[in-house]
Amino acid sequence: MAPPTQTVAPPSPAGPAAVVDPERPIGDILVADGVLAPDQLSKALRVQTRLEEWRPLGTLLAELGMVPRPRVEEARRASRKTLSIEQILVSRGMLRAEQLAATERALQGRPNVTAARHLVESGAISERTYLEAFCEKHGLPFVELDANHVDRTLLVKANLKYLAKLRVLPIAVRQGTLHVASDALLTDAVRAELERQYRVPVTLWVAEGSRIAGAITALEAELSGKAGAAKAVQYHVVAHVSDDNRTAAAIVDNVLGRALQQRASDIHLDPTRSGLRVRFRIDGELIRVAEYPANATGAVISRLKVLAEADIAERRVHQQGRIVLKADGEEIDVRASFYVTVAGENAVLRLLRKTGVLVSLDDLGMSPAAQRTLMHDVLEPSTGMVLVTGPTGSGKTTTLYAAVQRLMDESKKVITCEDPVEYLMEGATQCSIAERPGMTFVDSLRTILRQDPDVILVGEIRDKESAEMAVHCALTGHKLLSTLHTEDSVSAIVRLVQMDIEPFLVASTLCAVVAQRLVRKLCPHCRSEHAATPSEARSLSIAQDDVAAFRFSKGKGCPTCHYTGYKGRVGVYELLLMSDALRDAVLQQRPVHEIRRVAQDSPGFYSLQEDGIAKALGGQTSLSEIITNCPRVITTKRLRQLQEIYP
Ligand SMILES: [Zn+2]
Repeated sequence: MAPPTQTVAPPSPAGPAAVVDPERPIGDILVADGVLAPDQLSKALRVQTRLEEWRPLGTLLAELGMVPRPRVEEARRASRKTLSIEQILVSRGMLRAEQLAATERALQGRPNVTAARHLVESGAISERTYLEAFCEKHGLPFVELDANHVDRTLLVKANLKYLAKLRVLPIAVRQGTLHVASDALLTDAVRAELERQYRVPVTLWVAEGSRIAGAITALEAELSGKAGAAKAVQYHVVAHVSDDNRTAAAIVDNVLGRALQQRASDIHLDPTRSGLRVRFRIDGELIRVAEYPANATGAVISRLKVLAEADIAERRVHQQGRIVLKADGEEIDVRASFYVTVAGENAVLRLLRKTGVLVSLDDLGMSPAAQRTLMHDVLEPSTGMVLVTGPTGSGKTTTLYAAVQRLMDESKKVITCEDPVEYLMEGATQCSIAERPGMTFVDSLRTILRQDPDVILVGEIRDKESAEMAVHCALTGHKLLSTLHTEDSVSAIVRLVQMDIEPFLVASTLCAVVAQRLVRKLCPHCRSEHAATPSEARSLSIAQDDVAAFRFSKGKGCPTCHYTGYKGRVGVYELLLMSDALRDAVLQQRPVHEIRRVAQDSPGFYSLQEDGIAKALGGQTSLSEIITNCPRVITTKRLRQLQEIYP
């Protein structure tokens, strides 16, 4: 290799690119690191002068295939400290070099205005774009700020008017530092003031000034009792609020409003020594969202009891109640439970939405190949049994309804038999067994058969009787869809046989089994690259050489995701299509591990774990979510093969 001291010819000043390339330093960094040969750099610079449409050096090196993109990114990061915000905007393609040159000429004689600021004010670039470049220059994280991210306890000592003037807002204290949002670097004085007040060092998050102002206005309204969220929440029981518990009423309105906005499933209010701690369960995880002063505890719990029509005077006995509320036209049933603890009374509110949101087959997050198989090979034939399996809370019902919805059209009669009805479907005849005393599940199914249905949805197969009935429906020319509580797809076959269903009946009626889990999706705001650790690789049987060659992702945690690194959930699926080989294995009553091997070897079959790894490769989720949620299997498939599941 040529010695690194060799100098490289400067770019020709001719051509359309008579501008300074902000990415020019990247070339020298890459040469010094030995990633790029000096003669390659010279060649790239020559190419650059001849380009019809000018491109910065880093982009060009990647396009020419001289340096891999991640390596260009790394050099960009190394060089950004030496760049101005304007140069970063040019290298990011947000600003044309000529545009910058023109702005700089126009600003001559006005030293107080930077070109970037002027471009924002004149509307040539958005504040967001500017701030992203600003973050890159200073190596700071960006947050799409929302009042929901702010820990209310931090505001007790804060002067919001003063913070509004500074455009600074404390968000949370995490790992011993105060996270603060601002649209500029903090001055030493402001930083010192915050550190004195909160007694911890400050970590800065960059946010748009308009969002900071908006959040402060919303928080001011909330703290003064004119809660903005109150408008969104309406109670079925109108309870009178006296002047002394107006604050408690505002807190309750706000907590419920925020919980609905963030789609929490439960709200936990626990008295602690320092105050009333409020946590939401979001995507299955408990997240602390606020803490109110201890003197508010009694009034807040009492207010909830009034709304839930429980006895306020009784503080030594566990109680239950129900609050019906309306928000955005949606009616929500809140089940309240008051429990007496040594620290005082706590309350847990479970938010039950009256009707779930129907999800279509396309939005379940299945791989394109699995979805095609499900539509054409499983749902299209007019008879047979289709089962969805998984533990409670794995999203089985959502999948079941998505499948039934796909089958529905005018020419088909769809009847459901549920306990209770979870979703309302236009065009289907839905029956809830829970609402018919004296009628067993099997009685209901028998009646349903006399209704001449084409498609029957049975909420759950739970015992021998319902299993027999389901098989009978499928045998008599109906399409039957149901759920079963088993670990994976192969276990569903075994369970049916254990329920005394003849193997030949299982083999002849079952078309397919979908096994599934829900895993948390990575937060798009703080997702970053992650190399599989040796223990992760072992748990998922990823080959050693694959570990080095593939990158996964991980959430670092940010205010948007309450520092969990995750936002929302997605299904992981295993679709087992009954093949002749599988039918034979069932008919011959082969042991479970043999049936499983036949399944594993079927073309197009991917286990829950394999589908999960494929989703992790695509950056949808993390490896640790797959390890926690999917049953372990020894797989021999390579990552390259799994990567192809999600093109
Ligand atoms: Zn995040």
